[in-house]
Amino acid sequence: MPSLSNPSEIARETLRLLAARRLPPSPENYQAIYHEIAGTVGGSGGYPERELKAVLGSLPQESAVEQRLARRLARAFSGKGWDELQRGLGDFVRQLGQEHERPWGSLFAELVRQWEAKQVGLTPVRKREALERVIAGASGNAEVLFERLQGLLRSWSVNPVAAGDSTLADPLTPAAPDGQAVTEEDAAAALPLRVTVPSSELRDLFAYAVEELIAGLLEDEPDLRADALALAHRVRTASSRAALEAILSGIRRFAFRLAILAEDRAELRAGLLHLLQLLLDNVGELVIEDRWLTGQIAMVREIVAGPLNIRAIGDAEIRLKEVIFKQSQLKHSLNEARESLRQILAGFVDHLAEFADSTSDYHDKIEVCAEKISRAENISQLEDVLGEVLRETRIIQLNAQRSRDELRSARKRAEDADRRIVGLQAELDQASQLVRHDQLTGALNRRGLEEAFEKEVARARRRDSSLCVALLDIDNFKKLNDSLGHDAGDAALIHLATVIRETMRPQDTVARFGGEEFLIVLPDTALADAQTAIVRLQRELTRRIFLHGNNRQLITFSAGVTELRAGDTQASVTRRADQAMYQAKTTGKNRVVTAQP
Ligand code: GH3
Ligand code: MG
Ligand code: MG
Repeated sequence: MPSLSNPSEIARETLRLLAARRLPPSPENYQAIYHEIAGTVGGSGGYPERELKAVLGSLPQESAVEQRLARRLARAFSGKGWDELQRGLGDFVRQLGQEHERPWGSLFAELVRQWEAKQVGLTPVRKREALERVIAGASGNAEVLFERLQGLLRSWSVNPVAAGDSTLADPLTPAAPDGQAVTEEDAAAALPLRVTVPSSELRDLFAYAVEELIAGLLEDEPDLRADALALAHRVRTASSRAALEAILSGIRRFAFRLAILAEDRAELRAGLLHLLQLLLDNVGELVIEDRWLTGQIAMVREIVAGPLNIRAIGDAEIRLKEVIFKQSQLKHSLNEARESLRQILAGFVDHLAEFADSTSDYHDKIEVCAEKISRAENISQLEDVLGEVLRETRIIQLNAQRSRDELRSARKRAEDADRRIVGLQAELDQASQLVRHDQLTGALNRRGLEEAFEKEVARARRRDSSLCVALLDIDNFKKLNDSLGHDAGDAALIHLATVIRETMRPQDTVARFGGEEFLIVLPDTALADAQTAIVRLQRELTRRIFLHGNNRQLITFSAGVTELRAGDTQASVTRRADQAMYQAKTTGKNRVVTAQP
């Protein structure tokens, strides 16, 4: 059919075709044939696709929401007939309706965010008052409450404090399921609030936190734990506004009970710590004779007085075990020694007394004999007296011999006891090697280091975190020993160990590796940070000058730092640190050298 361009001709032809095709003259039929003739139809019986496209093209598409609505509308228009258009529009309207349901989850997320964020000119008290006013003003009408809360949050969000802009870091924004990013479209679904958390995800996140984290902490509180699980279940399954509101008051009650429990636990913890301090005080009194033991006790007291962490508690436990172990050993050997000494002394006193008795008796008798001799008038009288003298002398000789034998055997017993004590002492020394801390400096000894090292390496490998090792060797220590004496050297070692302990982080392990060498293990630390930490230690040591008597002595060290690598053993990583330390020595000392990766 030749296409016509004159509208009146098209109209006439349209009427003619209607009649020829015996179609009822309805507006739709007329329109369809009109377009057919005019060439403005795609052959679908009067479906106005072009016009609809024009309509879509004229829609505003500035914002994400406008673009999304236009896309959905285009989908609804994309059918090629009136029926499909009808269905498409129906879907569109339904989606629109769903979107306009109140996004309470998002509103709560925003409320939490704005509550925690700082706003110019708003104090927590003022925020609480405003919130209370809004809640009271809504007088139970959820619709009103929603609108007013929205308004309130909008007014709060207008003046955020720059540094704490709550929209930047949103701890509540979860990743979408299946690892997809939360799309702009999802974000827009929560409009008109600036919220990026879809309500179902927030609910899931909340429920997860309660079920897995909070309930896990409530093993000792079965009632509260059951409540937590029930609350999580209700949050997960809540489907209406009313249900959400009911849960909100439940959460408030639960939070209140949780706060009370937290207070109770804090009190309990403080009580236990106090008890432990008391116990330590008493133990400290008992071991007053042993400097090492008192040192250990002081260290444990320090550990439990500071901020507690699992490493500090572990260290305290090791030290207490050492104290208990060493004390029981000391007590045993001390009792032995005391008993032996008591017996030997008692034996000596007895023998001395006996000997004194017998000799004084002898003297008396000899005196009598001497008098008899001076008065003797004949040889036979003299013979009698001499016989008496000989008898008495023989008796005293026998007594002396007996005493000598007994004293000999007492001496032998004393020597035996002494040997036993020496043996015990050796055993005790051996036992001391089982302890894990160096007796002079209180740092871990080689044995303690080995255990701690193993634990740290396992932890680092488990968490896939980096771990560094630093080996320190005091510079020119021999000279210090030679000029100030060995005691000064010892005091310098104690000084260095103290500065290390006070400068490094509590989680760093410090061990006396050799005479004047210390090894430090730094968990969760990259090589560059470890180097910085050791340089900081170097500066601190320069600042805290070592004083011995009137001598001020600058102590410096050379250090090698290295990072644990895959396949490293304790020996290999230590060897690398040692090589780097050696390099520090040969290139001028008082330096920190890192082993090149
Ligand atoms: P460098 O700068 O090269 O390290 O020189 P240095 O003198 O420090 O090195 P060297 O290793 O030759 O000397 C270490 C000295 O440390 C030797 C030893 O007498 C002393 N020493 C080792 N253990 C102790 C200890 O427990 N107390 C004291 N006072 N001195 C110790
Ligand atoms: Mg050395
Ligand atoms: Mg040295």
